[in-house]
Amino acid sequence: MQTVTTLPELWANRKAFSGTVGLVPTMGFLHAGHLSLVRQAKAECDHVVVSIFVNPTQFGPSEDLDAYPRDLPHDLALLEEAGVDLVWTPTPEVMYPQGFQTWVEVEEVTRPLEGGMRPGHFRGVTTIVAKLFTGVQPDKAFFGQKDAQQVVVIKQMTRDLNFPIKIVVCPIRREPDGLAMSSRNTYLDPAQREAATVLSRSLIAARTAFESGERDADKLCAIVAEMITAEPLAELQYVSCAHPQTLTELETVDEDGALLSMAVYVGKTRLIDNFLLGGTE
Ligand code: AMP
Repeated sequence: MQTVTTLPELWANRKAFSGTVGLVPTMGFLHAGHLSLVRQAKAECDHVVVSIFVNPTQFGPSEDLDAYPRDLPHDLALLEEAGVDLVWTPTPEVMYPQGFQTWVEVEEVTRPLEGGMRPGHFRGVTTIVAKLFTGVQPDKAFFGQKDAQQVVVIKQMTRDLNFPIKIVVCPIRREPDGLAMSSRNTYLDPAQREAATVLSRSLIAARTAFESGERDADKLCAIVAEMITAEPLAELQYVSCAHPQTLTELETVDEDGALLSMAVYVGKTRLIDNFLLGGTE
């Protein structure tokens, strides 16, 4: 496994690959969710490149950029064991050299949900992912359903900018008690960690109602909201029942299905989770 930082090093290593290349973009502090993306990439591609970059432009001024957990030696050991060919760990100076002034902005699908709560977040995400794509030039790129809106936004950008890259979406990996794996789970103290299971429990309750025939979007959201509100350590920021492709809020779930998603504060830690209900995906 090679680890590179600069663009010339990246390009030299990329050129040496023959066959298909899969890219797994990450912010590091890797867990089994990230490694499931790596495994999928290994299964589908001849070579796997993982990028590790805590992208400053996708963090808001009051967000956790400086505190974001980092452990590069451990990440590299995990990736080596997983059989990754190349790890790209650019610095902020490599990605945003002095005088940088070009941004990638996706419009409609970035406005609701996470985009509504985190102004500028997706502008940072699409700009960095576009730069990862042009740097690595992969055939396929692997993203987690954990960040459901990110998947919709990246697919839109890939179509709109004609990147010849297939976007592969991998299922959410969870802890045994249902909590979606996240680098941010490390911020939770034991009581908060226990309380955090309310996210997946509330989604299961809403899915059970959906499976029993409930199609009213407000009612599905209310099931989630009531359970989150009943947990003293949790504070609901939003719950949404939206069309899975356009992300517009639904009144009634039809044959396209729905993305039921939420953001919840547990203490100062902001957690997100979602289920896809019905539909074809
Ligand atoms: P991050 O390092 O948080 O930017 O995540 C890098 C990639 O891993 C993104 O595509 C995430 O959606 C994905 N990911 C993060 N957590 C999980 C999880 N629990 N299950 C599956 N994919 C995940």
